[in-house]
Amino acid sequence: MKKHNFNAGPSILADEVIENAAKAILDFNGSGLSLLSISHRTKDFDAVMEEADQLFRELLHIPDNYKIIYLGGGASTYFYEIPANFLGKKAGYVNTGVWAKKAIKEAKRYGEVEVLASSEDKNFTYIPKGFAIPADLDYVHITSNNTIYGTEYHEDLSSPVPLIADMSSDILSRPVDVSKYAMIYGGAQKNLAPAGVAFAIIREDMLDKIVRDLPSMVSFRTHVENNSMFNTPPVFPIYVLKETLRWLKSIGGVPEIYRRNQEKAALLYDEIDRNPLFRGTVVKEDRSLMNICFVMAEGYEDLADEFMAFAKERGMVGIKGHRLVGGFRASCYNALPKSSVEALVACMQEFAEKHA
Ligand code: PMP
Repeated sequence: MKKHNFNAGPSILADEVIENAAKAILDFNGSGLSLLSISHRTKDFDAVMEEADQLFRELLHIPDNYKIIYLGGGASTYFYEIPANFLGKKAGYVNTGVWAKKAIKEAKRYGEVEVLASSEDKNFTYIPKGFAIPADLDYVHITSNNTIYGTEYHEDLSSPVPLIADMSSDILSRPVDVSKYAMIYGGAQKNLAPAGVAFAIIREDMLDKIVRDLPSMVSFRTHVENNSMFNTPPVFPIYVLKETLRWLKSIGGVPEIYRRNQEKAALLYDEIDRNPLFRGTVVKEDRSLMNICFVMAEGYEDLADEFMAFAKERGMVGIKGHRLVGGFRASCYNALPKSSVEALVACMQEFAEKHA
């Protein structure tokens, strides 16, 4: 049976990306060696890094005064590295859920944290707007897409202080004005690669704003100056990331994937709004294009387990909602085909007919 992969992360990658990765595991660039057993300090791997850099820049229109780095440790490592590097006195954070809270917790180890706005009052079902950003902050931190709650900023924030965004779960899914950010970072295991690498796009002048003497591995300067090769980078995930960027370019880049993501999300949200058995959990204007959360509508709560089993029988994978939200979450990342969303919608309709 065809499986429809709605996993929240690690998550679906394009078929051709997985095929190319499999080939490179068997024979990397005709070298007679596996990608898994080459040195990262070779011409062939340099070319992978260079191509990834160039494609990332091209696809996201990253200005020349930004550097891209790739590190292990996941987005969670950046949660403490960002304040370690940049939090001298006070930083501002927007609390939009679990990942933002984790970032806040780590930042508090390094200085004062002002929570500028929070959507906790309504279980993180919206994105706070219109809050003031004091000019005396070292930086302000946001989570552009909240993977667990299914909320997303649909506009780039304007900030008088350096703006830092965790884009783990919506990087390259929509156009972003990179010049509005001092730093964009994230784990790559949703829209870019398998688990094992995290990326950061850092404006160069931020490297002059590092506020304390740091262990070499923690300082962003180390990784920028060594082109992510200060220590052994995650070779395999970086290779797959490069293949994903190639795939994205081949289908028409960010404008095309944004069109597809909007189309997929509209299909599913329309069904959620139309189908009497289900309801969405997020205010409409802040709904994520990537993580689509819904629950059984009032009066149908008892059918949740039955729907889960019904959907599983029809090939749906990974649609169980996070325990903090309950219900269902269909993650519709870049590589998820429209046909999978259509299959889920058909499944919801069939289930509704059964219970009409
Ligand atoms: N931020 C967001 C928005 C996430 O969704 C996740 C993981 N799901 C993280 C941070 C943590 O990423 P990692 O597991 O790579 O540390």
